[in-house]
Amino acid sequence: MNDEAPRDFIRQIIYSDLESGKHSEIVTRFPPEPNGYLHIGHVMSICLNFGVAEETGGRTFLRYDDTNPGKEDVEFVEAIERDVHWLGFDWQERLTHASNYFEELYQAAEKLIELGLAYVDSLSADEIRAYRGTLTEPGRNSPFRDRSVEENLEMFRGMRAGNYQDGEHVLRAKIDMASPNMNLRDPALYRIRHTEHQNTGDAWCIYPMYDFAHTLSDAFEEITHSLCTLEFEDHRPLYDWFLDQLKPPHRPRQIEFSRLNLAYTITSKRKLSQLIEDGIVNGWNDPRMPTIAGMRRRGYPATALRDFVKRGGVTKKDKLIEMGVLENCVREFYGDSAERRMAVLRPLKLILTNYPDGQVEMMESMNHPNDPSMGTREVPFSREIWIEQDDFMEEAPRKFFRLKPGGEVRLRNAYIIRCDEVVKDGDGNVTELRCSYDPDTRSGSANSDRKVKGTIHWVSAQHAIDAEVRLYDRLFTVPNPNSAEMLSDVLNPKSLEVSAAKLEPSLAELKEGEAVQFERLGYFCLDSQDNTAESPVLNRVVTLRDSWAKIEKEAMASNG
Ligand code: ATP
Ligand code: MG
Repeated sequence: MNDEAPRDFIRQIIYSDLESGKHSEIVTRFPPEPNGYLHIGHVMSICLNFGVAEETGGRTFLRYDDTNPGKEDVEFVEAIERDVHWLGFDWQERLTHASNYFEELYQAAEKLIELGLAYVDSLSADEIRAYRGTLTEPGRNSPFRDRSVEENLEMFRGMRAGNYQDGEHVLRAKIDMASPNMNLRDPALYRIRHTEHQNTGDAWCIYPMYDFAHTLSDAFEEITHSLCTLEFEDHRPLYDWFLDQLKPPHRPRQIEFSRLNLAYTITSKRKLSQLIEDGIVNGWNDPRMPTIAGMRRRGYPATALRDFVKRGGVTKKDKLIEMGVLENCVREFYGDSAERRMAVLRPLKLILTNYPDGQVEMMESMNHPNDPSMGTREVPFSREIWIEQDDFMEEAPRKFFRLKPGGEVRLRNAYIIRCDEVVKDGDGNVTELRCSYDPDTRSGSANSDRKVKGTIHWVSAQHAIDAEVRLYDRLFTVPNPNSAEMLSDVLNPKSLEVSAAKLEPSLAELKEGEAVQFERLGYFCLDSQDNTAESPVLNRVVTLRDSWAKIEKEAMASNG
C-alpha cells in the first residue's frame, strides 16, 4: 500500500526523530479494549498507527488492552482482528495482550512499593473519593499512606494470593494528594476483582489499572510513539511519572491527537451497545452502525474509509466531520468502478397497449456511460413493465418532466411512450398506467433522435427479479447525538426503509462484495448476512447525490 499521507504534526515529530537519529525505527501500537466492535473513530487510529509505521518501514503492535475482566469477550477479539485486516493492515507476529504482561506488571508494582512509591490503601471506594478533593480543593492523605515497605509488600502479596475481598484494599501510587492534576493524587494501580478474565482465566484476582498497564506495556514493546486521543493529555504526567520512577530500558513518548467525530453518529462503544440492547439496530454489523463491520456490510469499501480519514487529517482541534464527506469518498470510489443496472424500488405497473403481446426485445445497454470498455448487456423489454411510482404524477407542475397524463417520456435504452390512461382502485390510488409506445423511437436505431425532456428507468415485469432492498438513512436526527441526554429522544424513526423492489434479470449474477449503480437511485450491494439465491436482499450503499448538504442546511435553519 502506498498512500502516503501529508505530514501532520505527529508525522512531523516522527520524521524529525528519524532524521535526528533519536530513533532508527518507528514502533507504534493500536490498543483496543475488546469490549465492543471497532468504529469509524478507531479507523482513524488504526490508519495513523499502522500508517506511520508502514511509511517509515517500522512496526505496529495490535495490543488488546484487556485489563478490565468481565466486560471483555472473545467475540470482540475476533471481530477486531477481522476488521483491522479488512482495512488493509497487518500486525504479523505482533499480536499481544496487556494481560500477557500481568506478571511483569506485578513485579513493577512491587518495585514501586520497594522504592517507597506505592502503598496499600484500605479506605473504601467512597472514602477514597472523598479524600481525593476536587478541582479547586487539594486532597487529603489517606491514614494508610505511611505503611512500611514491609507491610505494603506483605499486604500486596496477600491481595494477589486472594486473601481479601473485592474492594477491601487497593494499591496506590504515592505521588501528591495536593497536585492540581487529579491524575497525580495517588492514583490506583491495582484493585481486587475475583472475576475470570477472557485471556488469563482465574490466574489473577487483582488487576492493574489502565494507566499503569498501558504505560508499561508500551515500554515492554519498545513503542517509540504512543499515539492516543486528547482525553489522555492530563494522564501524560502520570505516564511520564511511571517511566521516571521505573526507568525501563525503553522510554516511549505519548502524543495526543483529537478524536474523529462524525456528525449524526455516536462513537462510544457503550452507547453503540446500548442501541443493540434496546433493539434499535440489529447487532454490531447493522449497516446503519458506524462500526467497521456495519460499514463493510453496508458496502463501504476499505479504500474509501482510509481515504476519508486521510482527508480529515490529524490535529489537536476538536472537530465534527460531516457525513457527506464520508459518503463522497464512497461515491468517488464507485463512480468509475460500479456498473450500471436498472431496478425499481417502488413499483408501479405500466402497460404498453400497442406493444405486441408476448413479444420480447433485447435492449442493448451500456454498463457504464463514460467507459465503453466496461461493455454492454442485453435488457429484456416487453408489454408490461414496472416504473417508479414517483416518476408519475397525475397533477404535475409544469416543470415535471417525467410521466403525466397525456405526457411523453423516454424509457431508458428503449422507446418514447405516452401516458393515455390512469387506472385507480376504489380508494383513488393509482394502480396501473396504460400507455402507448412510438415504435420509431427505439434507442440506438436510425430514427431514434426524436427528443423528449425526461428519461425514466424501468424493468420488464415478466423478467423482473423480486428483491428486498434496504434503504438507510441517518440513525439520529441531530448532528451531535453524543450530547443528547437520552439517545431515544434523538432517534430517526425512518433510518431503515424496506422496499419490495423489481430488478433487471442480469442482477441474478451480482456477486457478494460487488456493488452496482441502480440508475438514478444510488449504489447497491448484496447483503452479506441475509441474502440468498431464492430471496435476494440488497443494501443501498449510498445515494447518488449528497443529500446531507440539504439536511444540514435545514438543521441550521431550525436552530435559528
Ligand atoms: P470507546 O469510548 O468507544 O470505548 P475507547 O477510546 O475507549 O472508545 P479503545 O478500544 O480503548 O476505545 O480505543 C482504541 C484506540 O482507538 C485508542 O488509542 C483510542 O484513543 C482510539 N480511538 C477511539 N475512539 C477514537 C476516535 N473517535 N477517534 C480517534 N481515535 C479513537
Ligand atoms: Mg478505552
